[in-house]
Amino acid sequence: MKIFNTMDRRKEEFVPLEPGKVRMYVCGPTVYNFIHIGNARPMIFFDTVRRYFQYKGYDVRYVSNFTDVDDKIIKAAEEEGVSASEIAERYIKECRTDMAGMNIEPATVNPRATEEISGMIEMIQQLIDGGHAYAAEDGTVYYRVRSFKNYGKLSHKNLDDNKSGLRTLKVTGEEAKEDPNDFVLWKPKKEGEPYWTSPWCDGRPGWHIECSVMSKKYLGEQIDIHGGGEDLIFPHHENEIAQSEAVSGKPFARYWMHNAFLNIDNVKMSKSLGNFKTVREISRQYDLQVLRLFMLSAHYRSPLNFSREMMEGAKAGLERILTAMDNLRDSFEEAPERAMTEEETRGLTELSGLVKKFEDSMEDDFNTADALSAVFEIVRLANTTVTRESARKYIGKIRETMEKLLDVLGILPERKKVSLDAEVEALITERQAARKAKNYARADEIRNQLTEMGIVLEDTKDGVKWRKA
Ligand code: AMP
Ligand code: ZN
Repeated sequence: MKIFNTMDRRKEEFVPLEPGKVRMYVCGPTVYNFIHIGNARPMIFFDTVRRYFQYKGYDVRYVSNFTDVDDKIIKAAEEEGVSASEIAERYIKECRTDMAGMNIEPATVNPRATEEISGMIEMIQQLIDGGHAYAAEDGTVYYRVRSFKNYGKLSHKNLDDNKSGLRTLKVTGEEAKEDPNDFVLWKPKKEGEPYWTSPWCDGRPGWHIECSVMSKKYLGEQIDIHGGGEDLIFPHHENEIAQSEAVSGKPFARYWMHNAFLNIDNVKMSKSLGNFKTVREISRQYDLQVLRLFMLSAHYRSPLNFSREMMEGAKAGLERILTAMDNLRDSFEEAPERAMTEEETRGLTELSGLVKKFEDSMEDDFNTADALSAVFEIVRLANTTVTRESARKYIGKIRETMEKLLDVLGILPERKKVSLDAEVEALITERQAARKAKNYARADEIRNQLTEMGIVLEDTKDGVKWRKA
């Protein structure tokens, strides 16, 4: 199996650290809002990577964090007048709902930064003891980038080459830094912010140290795959390497995988630009399996532009798959128990070829676009050769194969029956959140949508109740 490794900028044969096992870490979201479909791209893609390894018989340990303390969470908490932990708790819950809708397997562990502070303090102390970090007078602890020989190896930047993209000048407020590229490991609290006691000051950890600590705790000093969106290559992953390797003295991750952006009008979708669509919004217009199919329709290292046409295309594709699965199921029930004809035997040979095409595509740096086209060819094979008169064995084999391959892609082989109750409850929860966030426009929009669905809301002392009009 070949994987494109950002570290060496080429495809390399995958060799696990331990035979039969894969240890992977994927940087998770900062939870201060509903996740948008840009965040969903790494979630869907790396879940598919995990599923393919499982299909191949590997035992996969998959760790993905929730960043639940951060400036943006604190800001959202201040705006709503609630605690930062309430914001984080709420959006972790909502994120899990969205992930379930996208059929993302729960991670082996989903550590939360705020529950791992003691490990972070310990690693920061080790870095100080080893000469890789220093505390400034106000208690801020910085990583000393010049102490790490290969700083810049992942992002291909060089501290001594001022054209390589690293900073050469300090800005105001950075006087205590030895080098402008030194980064924060621990920072002092500000009034009203959550904080923890440490040897340096009451404060909180920097973002990068979280992943080094959680990865080490749940996967060990060395892991097979570290993944995330390409915006994380620098500085986040570069800094994770500097921290983890300075402490362990060993290479941290063997393969660094990064997905390209999900764009809208050819611009990166992001919360800060405000050009995003949440997974929750999409779930109102489409089954989230459509979103999943749309994401997998492009290679993960190619930018993908979100558009209604592409989503409609994915919707039609999903419909084609599900209809073929329905037909296979129905025909199977009635099919005769008899030996296969020559034509059917030839059909199974063709099927094996298509499975090989699927696997070869996945083995070639997870080319899900080509893997999907193999699935559609199997759909065509089923549609053109299977009838109620086909041998039961023939139908059964195609059906079983399709189910296995769809499982790798995380597509359920049956139509989901969404209950009205679940949908209404989800809308009400989102409306409450919008109101709390003082996003009244969104709250009204949801109320109108509920009205259109024939749902009446009533505010009672036990919360919001609903009934059909
Ligand atoms: P964040 O919550 O911004 O830290 O992002 C969580 C994950 O989503 C990271 O792996 C990001 O790289 C990824 N991500 C954010 N925006 C996009 C986007 N527009 N396209 C693809 N990946 C993204
Ligand atoms: Zn990370």
